[in-house]
Amino acid sequence: MSHRYALFFRTLLIALVLAVAPLIAANYILDNYAVTQARAEMKAVAERYVMRAEKAINDAVTALQALHKDGNVTCAAIDRAAFHAGLIAAPYVQMIGVVDANGVLMCNVPDQITSGEPVLPALKVDSPLVGIGMRDRSYEGTRIALVSWRIGNGNRLLAEISPVAISIDPGPEYLRAYRQAELRLGDGVVWLKSGEPAPSDRFGEDPELMVEVSSEKYPMVAQVTAPASAADNLVRDLKVVAAIACVGFAILFVAVGVWISWRPESEAEDDFVQAIRNGEFVPYYQPVMDIETGRLRGCEVLMRWARPDGSVISPGAFMTFAETHGHIFEMTRQIMRKTRDEVADLYHENPEFKLSVNLFAGHFEDRQVIEDIKQIYGGSKIAYQQIVLEVTERQPLSDMETARKIIAELQAFGVRVALDDVGTGHGGFAYLQKLGIDIIKIDKMFIDSLGTDDNSTTIVDTMVELADNLGMGIIAEGVETMEQIERLRELGVSAAQGYIFSPPLPAPLFIELAQALSSGEADMGENEAEAEVA
Ligand code: C2E
Ligand code: CA
Ligand code: CA
Repeated sequence: MSHRYALFFRTLLIALVLAVAPLIAANYILDNYAVTQARAEMKAVAERYVMRAEKAINDAVTALQALHKDGNVTCAAIDRAAFHAGLIAAPYVQMIGVVDANGVLMCNVPDQITSGEPVLPALKVDSPLVGIGMRDRSYEGTRIALVSWRIGNGNRLLAEISPVAISIDPGPEYLRAYRQAELRLGDGVVWLKSGEPAPSDRFGEDPELMVEVSSEKYPMVAQVTAPASAADNLVRDLKVVAAIACVGFAILFVAVGVWISWRPESEAEDDFVQAIRNGEFVPYYQPVMDIETGRLRGCEVLMRWARPDGSVISPGAFMTFAETHGHIFEMTRQIMRKTRDEVADLYHENPEFKLSVNLFAGHFEDRQVIEDIKQIYGGSKIAYQQIVLEVTERQPLSDMETARKIIAELQAFGVRVALDDVGTGHGGFAYLQKLGIDIIKIDKMFIDSLGTDDNSTTIVDTMVELADNLGMGIIAEGVETMEQIERLRELGVSAAQGYIFSPPLPAPLFIELAQALSSGEADMGENEAEAEVA
């Protein structure tokens, strides 16, 4: 799987995690909120049931107490008229009557046909003043609460409370369809029930929410139950919003991921990595000449990108990319291996030839470059003594101390180090001194104006003197004219490279040139017309 696919799937995975995690968190929070909210509402419903029931019972007790006080306690017409008045005064009371000691109705208002069955338990000595009970009116499908009041002669006044008094308040809409409410008397007798039956049948596996509120005045409990999923209705819309937001985020993340993994730069990167694998980066060799003797001293290895279409690209177009993306390390290893394979015989036959390889600042940050050189040139036909490593002054070295150690270690087994582009960059003379440089390369900038600009001549003169004093070699770069060669000779520079001698050449041409020079067939630098300029 290519690097880009790996990146793509990794981004996809991150996108999913980033989208799903908030979704789970949002659902959890909303669920908790819904349950808390539903419980609060259910409690309010239960409290209202209890409150209304208490009020209805209070009204009934007050009505009966008033009748007793006024002496309206028999079935006489005048008392029954008072019962009527009591009914009107207490709207929740739907019937008032008199019950005998056995609990059988003696009379009532409004008149009802009585079955003669007791409606209350028989009066006992210890029965309380106020009694609360229940009468099953199955033919009406309801149970009626009864409130009784002892009047002293073994009889009791009786009031029936209308169920309408209590069955009120459906509660919030989202709970209504799912909720069940029950009002029970202390002995567990159900007075009133609303909603569907048996929660277990209806709610199934759904966990159940239950809230109970007891009356503080009477033995009475209101219980409200609802499935947890009912509470869900409250936050369903919010959950949809959260899900949409998370999906939106996921899409955004995936889009960013796709963009990151497929954007043009990574395409360029892919092509580049592929080119490295294909071995498209190759060494060209630019001769370095001895301008006193006219003999070849060796070469500088310059990288070229030889594209499959036959085009050859110079380092200016790719070197920065290769360095910033870290590809340069592998590319340099490849270049060095190729030089070892291509010019090994030539160098073996000419032990005085130097092979100059360019490194960049990053190569001087750890010992890897030492391992690379040992691994590539160790035991090859190119001796360590023939190798020169060029470090440019254009880029700053991040850690001078490490660089110094690496250079010292390389020098210990015979490799030489040249400071490239001297006079153009960061290090200046500090680099020369601290790094223990063997060779300095005078930049083309100073060579170009040699002879025309006095300053350049002075600078080159100073460099030559410095190199002599420090025991370093010196090479002039970018020499293009005979005049420049003359000036350099006058200034005491003995080594030079440049188009006047030859541009960088592919291996076979360089080898051919080197052999022609050593057999005396070619004569470089003495005649401008012979220089091969690319
Ligand atoms: P550099 O090390 O200063 O290399 C000298 C450059 O000057 C080369 O450019 C060479 O082709 C060019 N040159 C040589 N003689 C003349 C001349 O007479 N006139 C003119 N106008 N130019 C001349 P090139 O090959 O394009 O390389 C450019 C730079 O890329 C190099 O500058 C070096 O810094 C870097 N480079 C090249 N190969 C490598 C490499 O293998 N590794 C690293 N790290 N950098 C490399
Ligand atoms: Ca160089
Ligand atoms: Ca240079």
